[in-house]
Amino acid sequence: MILVLKKSATDKEAQHIVQLAREWGFKVNLSRGVERTVIGLIGDERELRDKPLDVLPGVETVLAVLKPYKLAASEGCPEGTRIVLPPVKKGGRTVVIGGPELCIMAGPCSIEGREMLLDLARLVKQSGAHLLRAGAFKPRTSPYAFQGLGNEGLRLLAEARATVGIHVITEVMDVRDLDAVAAVADVLQVGARNVQNFTLLKEIGKLRKPVMIKRGLASTIEELLMSAEYVMSGGNHEVLLCERGIRTFEPMTRNTLDLAAVPVLQRETHLPVIVDPSHGTGHWDLVAPMARAAVAAGADGIMVEIHPRPEEAMSDGSQALLPKTYVRMMKEIGRVARVLGRKV
Ligand code: PEP
Ligand code: MN
Repeated sequence: MILVLKKSATDKEAQHIVQLAREWGFKVNLSRGVERTVIGLIGDERELRDKPLDVLPGVETVLAVLKPYKLAASEGCPEGTRIVLPPVKKGGRTVVIGGPELCIMAGPCSIEGREMLLDLARLVKQSGAHLLRAGAFKPRTSPYAFQGLGNEGLRLLAEARATVGIHVITEVMDVRDLDAVAAVADVLQVGARNVQNFTLLKEIGKLRKPVMIKRGLASTIEELLMSAEYVMSGGNHEVLLCERGIRTFEPMTRNTLDLAAVPVLQRETHLPVIVDPSHGTGHWDLVAPMARAAVAAGADGIMVEIHPRPEEAMSDGSQALLPKTYVRMMKEIGRVARVLGRKV
């Protein structure tokens, strides 16, 4: 830990800090520059985590040397984490997330009914995507908006999974639904609004089931990594991270898709990084360009929303791709992936 003292800090203040740090069992390195005095505390930085060092008289800035996320940090698995989903049916395909093959997750925002879900599940599988996405529990801004079919939606999702033979990802919003959702989902989804629901994250940490955590509307990259750390510190190491746009002052897009988060996350963590250009932009015509850009940026996968009749969608119709636009996008991202030595 490094403490930079204020220009006005006195010798007495500096000595007080040195004495305190020694009492805490740290070795101290005091360096007096022309402009500033800097004090280095050498020892286990974690012991200082709960100490508000910035309130010590004379201290201007406190700089941590170690990262607060340990299990998620790239050093933990320099070759990168691969998450393996065993086949849904005997003879079916094994999905590996985080390897050279990109992982494509596609489907409706919400499960609206049996026929549409089965049709979309078939389309998604035929197009070469790896997971069907579809929400049974929907986090809606308005309590009057469609909230999802709940347990009935889960039942339909289980049916689509079994009949079509495709892996599924779906959101869990509440610990009370966790067992039911985990019984159906191959990958659990923690949505942007629940990224800091620490109770939920801790419970998911007790499972042995992959989970994709979406970046919150106002999460920093470090906060997203700390959410992953919550799950991992419980023993569940199969975590994927998803960039899905953050809220900025720009109203022309629903959110601002932060594609720089992809290389930043890949530098900071060994966990696979997925990009969701649907929620990231909010407009169907921006989805394919940003999906291509996400693949070019090095994402390990893409999540997109599709709907056969977007104008009738019960949620997120404006950002839903028509099946034919989706199929075209799949071809385009396949081409971008090949340029980079990856495939879809
Ligand atoms: C979703 O994937 O349907 C969803 C609600 O996403 P987010 O949590 O990113 O808003
Ligand atoms: Mn949606």
